[in-house]
Amino acid sequence: MIYLDYNSTAPVHPRVVDAMAEALKSLYGNPSSAHSAGATAAAAVERARTQVADLVGADPAEVTFCSSATEAINTVVRAARGTVVTTAAEHAATLQAVAIHESTGAEAVRLPVDVDGLVSLAGLANELNSRPVTLVSVIWVNNETGVISPIEAIARLCEDRGVALHVDAVQAAGRVPISLDSLPIDFLTISAHKIGGPKGVAALINRQARPLPPLIVGGGQEHGRRSGTENVPGIVGFGVAAELALRDLDATNEHLASLRGRLEDRIKALLPLAGVNGAGAPRVSNTSSIHFDGVSGDELAAYLDGQGICVSTGSACHAAATEPSHVIQAMTRSRERAGSTVRFSLGPATSQEEIDRCVEAVAAGIAALGMISVPERSNELRNLFR
Ligand code: PLP
Repeated sequence: MIYLDYNSTAPVHPRVVDAMAEALKSLYGNPSSAHSAGATAAAAVERARTQVADLVGADPAEVTFCSSATEAINTVVRAARGTVVTTAAEHAATLQAVAIHESTGAEAVRLPVDVDGLVSLAGLANELNSRPVTLVSVIWVNNETGVISPIEAIARLCEDRGVALHVDAVQAAGRVPISLDSLPIDFLTISAHKIGGPKGVAALINRQARPLPPLIVGGGQEHGRRSGTENVPGIVGFGVAAELALRDLDATNEHLASLRGRLEDRIKALLPLAGVNGAGAPRVSNTSSIHFDGVSGDELAAYLDGQGICVSTGSACHAAATEPSHVIQAMTRSRERAGSTVRFSLGPATSQEEIDRCVEAVAAGIAALGMISVPERSNELRNLFR
């Protein structure tokens, strides 16, 4: 199998598997228990808290573990009392939490993005100048396109106006350097399963002195910020994944940038109907969102799956989505473009051979599906893979 869907979720790193297996065996104590088994588990959670804090340049005391980035995002957005400003290209977790916020009678603004997926800083400044805003929530790296938002500029705008900022850094962690110690971001969300950790564990980093009202109440774990017995093996795995992601960030980016370039160059050379979404914006090195005009992205993805190649169209986290990607629609104002888009997202284990096989399968798939005729290019194809 060729797995090119790392933005949906990444394979668990072998060292994470080992650490979690050991934690399942030996760290069975409840971290809240006063006895030594509890204390050992609590110490492991604290070690992971430091590892996760180090990945984003935060203080361990600012890290709250929870069940998912979706939970973290809901915790922040739904705690806002007043106008929330976000963008049209957010993950469904943010957009749905904002919709719930609105349903309580509060105001929400969804800023448009340009054809490259970038929000206008002048547009954001206008919003912040024209009304009192409680919270701005923006995605750092878009999960569908890999487009990198101008987070530093956004953070400075919010800081100048005293508006709290939440950043969805789920796809940024391990892909761009994050130094909260030098960036005025109030809340940051990251998720273990995108960086080689397990599913079902995430962190909300809260840099404000005041705690947020918890979304989940009960036994008061996580200093009352998120109740429920901690997922100790998951948190231990998250810590190891965070440490490895920080250690390998530069090397992984270098490896992926060359593979992603190869993928895009070859696809564009073979298929003039193909174009990269967000090509004019800065993008992370692992993501390529490509539209194949006149082709159904869903059918092409299904064809590739039949060839043993896993890619996706919209966001996998948007279960059973039938509507083409809202992100590509927000960028291009075109349902057709969105419907013809396939996302290839690479990871540290992706090889050049896999990229070449994928390109070959894309071209063959488009021909086989009869979506367009590519016979005149078949010689070129053969030469390329000789
Ligand atoms: N935000 C972004 C940008 C994502 O890519 C995802 C998952 O795809 C999420 C939030 C939700 O993460 P989780 O699966 O941990 O709830």
